[in-house]
Amino acid sequence: MLPLEVLKKAAEEMTDYRGTGMSVMEMSHRSSVYEGIINEAEADLRKLMNIPENYKVLFLQGGASTQFAAIPLNFMKTGKADYVVTGQWAKKALGEARKYGDAKCIASSEDRTFAYIPEITPDMVSPDADYVHICYNNTIYGTKFPEIPNVGDKMLIADMSSCIMSEPVDVTKFGVIYAGAQKNMAPAGLTVVIVREDLLGYARPETPTMLDYKIMADNGSMYNTPPCYTIYVAGLVYKWALSLGGLEKMKERNEKKAALLYDYLDGSSLFKATADKAFRSMMNVCFVTGDAELDKKFCAEAQQNGMVNLKGHRSVGGMRASIYNAMPYEGVEKLVSFMKKFEAENK
Ligand SMILES: *Cc1c(COP(=O)(O)O)cnc(C)c1O
Repeated sequence: MLPLEVLKKAAEEMTDYRGTGMSVMEMSHRSSVYEGIINEAEADLRKLMNIPENYKVLFLQGGASTQFAAIPLNFMKTGKADYVVTGQWAKKALGEARKYGDAKCIASSEDRTFAYIPEITPDMVSPDADYVHICYNNTIYGTKFPEIPNVGDKMLIADMSSCIMSEPVDVTKFGVIYAGAQKNMAPAGLTVVIVREDLLGYARPETPTMLDYKIMADNGSMYNTPPCYTIYVAGLVYKWALSLGGLEKMKERNEKKAALLYDYLDGSSLFKATADKAFRSMMNVCFVTGDAELDKKFCAEAQQNGMVNLKGHRSVGGMRASIYNAMPYEGVEKLVSFMKKFEAENK
């Protein structure tokens, strides 16, 4: 979901952006008006996430999946890196890195269908690895790292596609944070990369220009045409989050929403949450009835009642309620009351 206020604002400004006589979609990305839009979006994201001065914020394309390749190309200096495999996205990131060097899986939770997050201790990290890569929130399995793992003095890189802006994070604990914007920030088409400045400039010579973070940083994300309209909408979403009180407030809202759903699931005799309790995601709540036919019936009836996209990822089945920032508490209330009714009718 995008916040309704944001969609309304975008609609209001659609054909004439603040007296310019044109839509943001029609502007030159080199125009001073557009420069104002991208600069303001960056400033607001910095404020929201408390991003220190010595980090660059990049607005890129290609999705999180493209960064799976950009990460090793930019940061695998010795040709070695460690990966924690907590789901399909983490596994894909590892697979991509293996095209470029010796990427090692140092821990995995695949033995139990990624229902938990393995413990990471500094002694598990390879002494000669350039970085440790994690997927902070596992969208498909509904798990999240309960805290930032301790990787000693190694650089930590995190895919935060499905949890960015859901709560405050200490950016200084990471060398790189990246996220496809379409889950919690904007429509599809934008990828945000937050990277510590001193890590830039070591890309391999064969790195495609478009994947070289240093070149993107030196050009203010405008080496070529950036995803202009999506950045504009992201900017509106940042302002929306700031107006509500920032990420502390987002966290409070998200905790309340997730608790409502998990509390119901824990007491239900029909539904069962699939992620281990200690590692539950606030954004993606996965659950099953234990009967694939009943799961299907649930999704169909939910849809008839106006609740869509509840089918679990095609690789795991079951159900998944993605309750990103823009989902209101009332939306989760509606889902839970529907689930109660469904439970009573299908005992
Ligand atoms: C959705 C998702 C991706 C893939 O994002 P794209 O922008 O479609 O490439 C990667 N990682 C995580 C954690 C995701 O949730």
